[in-house]
Amino acid sequence: MLDYIIVGFGLSGLSFVEQLEDNNKSYIVYEDFSQKSSRVAGGLYNPVILKRFTLAWQAFEQLKVAIPFYQNIQKKLQQPLISDLPVMRRFNSVEEQNSWFEACDKPILGQLLSPELIHNTTEGLDIPFHYGEVKCTGKIDIYTMLSSYIEYLKKKDAVINESFEYSKMLVKDKFVEYKGIKSKRVLFAEGYGMINNPFFNHLPIYGNKGEYIIIKCEALKLQKAIKSSVFIIPLGDDLYKVGATYANDDKTPEVTTAAREELQRKLNQFLTIPYKVVDQVAGIRPTVRDRRPLIGTHTDYQNIHVLNGLGSRGILIGPTIAKRLYNHIEKGASLNQEVDIKRFDANL
Ligand SMILES: Cc1cc2nc3c(=O)[nH]c(=O)nc-3n(C[C@H](O)[C@H](O)[C@H](O)COP(=O)(O)OP(=O)(O)OC[C@H]3O[C@@H](n4cnc5c(N)ncnc54)[C@H](O)[C@@H]3O)c2cc1C
Repeated sequence: MLDYIIVGFGLSGLSFVEQLEDNNKSYIVYEDFSQKSSRVAGGLYNPVILKRFTLAWQAFEQLKVAIPFYQNIQKKLQQPLISDLPVMRRFNSVEEQNSWFEACDKPILGQLLSPELIHNTTEGLDIPFHYGEVKCTGKIDIYTMLSSYIEYLKKKDAVINESFEYSKMLVKDKFVEYKGIKSKRVLFAEGYGMINNPFFNHLPIYGNKGEYIIIKCEALKLQKAIKSSVFIIPLGDDLYKVGATYANDDKTPEVTTAAREELQRKLNQFLTIPYKVVDQVAGIRPTVRDRRPLIGTHTDYQNIHVLNGLGSRGILIGPTIAKRLYNHIEKGASLNQEVDIKRFDANL
């Protein structure tokens, strides 16, 4: 009898598996690579909303959990995964500069925003109103982290690379049984794939498609991430990720010409030197109506759980929310209504 079956191994599944590893629980992961949100993500962590210069939801607390969490994984997998990457907000006007300075005077934001105007020194960028720098930012190499972790799971015989077929799961009082495997509990973490899950597809996940282009620009010697109408994120070897888009009306997994054109149009407003688009990626963010995670236990089945709804900022939120869910399931800790799936019970 296993302790857990985990369905889905993106950021959510990985965050929960780390809880199981820390607490010596046995588990098996099912992953079919049908969703790509985590694998295409920019991997940035940044506690500030750069549109309005406000603190992201519980970001300060999440940061304190997330950094040691990724450091542990880095050590366990013996792979460099975390890099300190400054995030520079390109100002569009003097008014924006003033809003930034106002935010700098606020208690927590003041610790996260640099109060000076920073002048651009990188050739090929048009930055007439200068930058503001966000502190405590960085990048997780999320693609490498997930691939290396899957290899680690393979060595432990703890992963099966196939689709979980919901209709084949038998739910008993004290355990679930799936294709001959018995487990005390099952955790679903399928991202936008949850729309196919009969146990949880009543939850209001609507999905938001995001695309990046990857450009090669040899003349651009940029070591920082820049946020303008799009992000430019340095990847090394003169490659940069540029994006992302936000589309609610398209749930197809393929990249689109419209997204590439939109990203290039925005990029061309401040990148003034030639570049080549060498790749493009797309994924569906598992976004929720109220923009909060979805965690908890099924109303009718005490051994069926869910971790989802990390539509954006999954890097920061995932470790904290997985820990809360684990403590809820294993130690009976109560869940805050803001994140508990029970907040949608009235809609059942
Ligand atoms: C373009 C883009 C850029 C982003 N940039 C950032 C960023 O810079 N920083 C940040 O913090 N966040 C970013 N995000 C958001 C971040 O990617 C999400 O918060 C996070 O990836 C959600 O992870 P998840 O594990 O919940 O979902 P997913 O990554 O979708 O993982 C779900 C997994 O479940 C698997 N699965 C589904 N159904 C089944 C089944 N039946 N059987 C087996 N396996 C199944 C899927 O294959 C998938 O691997 C970005 C998202 C996008 C799309």
